Amino acid sequence: MSDDARTLGAGRHLSRRQFLGGTAAALALGGGADATVSAQATPAGASATTDGPGLALINGRIHTMDPDGRIVSQALVRGGRFVAVGDGVGQADAQVVDLMGRTVIPGIIDAHNHIVLVGNRPGWHTPLEHVFTIPNAVAALQARSAQVPAGEFITTIGPIAARQFAEQRLPELRELDAVNRPVYLQAAQGGTRTNTQGREWLEARGVTVAADGSIAGPSVGLALQSLRREWLTPETRRRAALDALQYYATLGITTHRDSGAFHEDEAATGIASENTYRMHDPFLALDREGRLPARLRIDFLHRDAPDADPPLPTLSARLKNSFPFFGNDWLRTGGIGEFTGGGVEGLRAIARAGWRGEDHALNLAGATRLIENRELVNAEIPIADLRWILSHVPAFPPDLADRAHVLGMGVLVGWGPLRSGTDLGPPYRQLVEHPIPVGYHSDGGDITVINPWLNFYTIATGLNLSGEPILGDQTLTREQTLSLATTANKWFIREDDLGSIEVGNHADLAVLDRDCFTVSDEDFKRTRSLLTVVGGKIVHDDGVLPVASP
Ligand SMILES: [Zn+2]
Repeated sequence: MSDDARTLGAGRHLSRRQFLGGTAAALALGGGADATVSAQATPAGASATTDGPGLALINGRIHTMDPDGRIVSQALVRGGRFVAVGDGVGQADAQVVDLMGRTVIPGIIDAHNHIVLVGNRPGWHTPLEHVFTIPNAVAALQARSAQVPAGEFITTIGPIAARQFAEQRLPELRELDAVNRPVYLQAAQGGTRTNTQGREWLEARGVTVAADGSIAGPSVGLALQSLRREWLTPETRRRAALDALQYYATLGITTHRDSGAFHEDEAATGIASENTYRMHDPFLALDREGRLPARLRIDFLHRDAPDADPPLPTLSARLKNSFPFFGNDWLRTGGIGEFTGGGVEGLRAIARAGWRGEDHALNLAGATRLIENRELVNAEIPIADLRWILSHVPAFPPDLADRAHVLGMGVLVGWGPLRSGTDLGPPYRQLVEHPIPVGYHSDGGDITVINPWLNFYTIATGLNLSGEPILGDQTLTREQTLSLATTANKWFIREDDLGSIEVGNHADLAVLDRDCFTVSDEDFKRTRSLLTVVGGKIVHDDGVLPVASP
């Protein structure tokens, strides 16, 4: 999330597409060639194998991401964990998935995004991050409309961008009019759009809509606030939360670390704002019902003013009354971030309480100040064992990495595909060659996309989604990129038994629809998961691979 996301909130927009968990009916994605998403997805929980006979994966190219970098053909899962990984591990009494030579990777860990915001979007939020042309986006929205009652909004708010489309723009009103429902798109990059049905509803609430369906300036905040007032209820939040997690399971994400939102008590105008004391409710409900299709790790964002009186009004209450790293394997709390708030005094309070703290940096001056403040606190209260995090670092020279490393910190990198400019950073190559822990995050949900493959594309090619070079000579290999998003992220979520396919680890993996290590750059960007497994449970299944009962 960007510091200015709140004000910018008035100009972004989003989307997502979806398999409607819950009801087995998946959204037929309607798209064309670039939207080869299957029309069937397994609803979360429908194929639980955790307590059953077990799951055997055979005939694959399983990239274990273990310390030896082994690639094996088989893995056996029981009780939600890998019990054998290799070639010829046996399959007795197990449900058998024939991988037919497909590439398998450990489930992707997005170590910092804003999935909880995405799970609280008003209307029928429809993700479109796997769609690359406007006709296919419109087709996906048309397909979605079959599930949406007349008069209700189809929305895509946050992780969608003009840059993802070949046309390098968002759909316009005349194109969105092919969808027989009100449509509202608010993109992380490229503007805000509606169609004729949406315009009618929005104009009645004082929103200014241009002839091409564009909404700009303060009208964007008013539009979003109006949608939240009308189309956000506990039930819609539950649906949106499940949809969001289910959608990203189709892209191979099995663990999200959520890095919070800006607090507003009531329906807010900002895309990065929510009621941060209530926004986790739908996810907590899904967890109680055993329906989460991915793991969720929750950090708490605080923004107390350094001169507040009494001091640290929200942060000190949090530290006194909450538990860090508390929960279960599916849903667990984390630390404070991605803003700690309260200045150096806030950092002292977090250090004293023994919590993890995370802040983000938008430029080198900001990153340097953050390190200086932590050095100050560390001299009084050691933080080296607390794994504090700096996220989306920009330029980050080796001497600064040295200083952060001494403090026991790690840095998260990513947040690239929508940016423009040259040598924007982060310096991926320099950082992975440094001993400091480095992990991958999308930071997606409000100011950028969550689709990991769009992010991986930028890291591995150095190009943004418009094809412009933004990373100088700091690109990584695909192997390095994938390892940042899997095994390297163990450190950031403080869990050693995720992120690699090894005996004893949670059985989280994605069977990919292509070999992400060898396909062309354009195809790499379009990678999807055919079958996603979390804790031995099949949470997404395109129905392509034969699955045989024991
Ligand atoms: Zn963020």
